[in-house]
Amino acid sequence: MSKGNLSKIDNLGRIVIPKSIRKALNIEHNDEISMYVENESLIIKKGHRVCSLCGSKEIKHQIGTKFICNICVQNIKDL
Ligand SMILES: [Zn+2]
Repeated sequence: MSKGNLSKIDNLGRIVIPKSIRKALNIEHNDEISMYVENESLIIKKGHRVCSLCGSKEIKHQIGTKFICNICVQNIKDL
């Protein structure tokens, strides 16, 4: 029986991605990953999420399933 990939979050909010998962996804030291919430689950993906409005990689906000950068948030506030 498999024990699955159960991890605990440490006091700084960190988790370890198990070696088997890193190997399966070809994730290596210093690779960039993105994290977001979808359907009440934490999704961790290799690479960048980009701003839904301008394509920037500097994502600061998630609204529903969309990602928005600070510049676009400021532009919306200024409307
Ligand atoms: Zn943007």
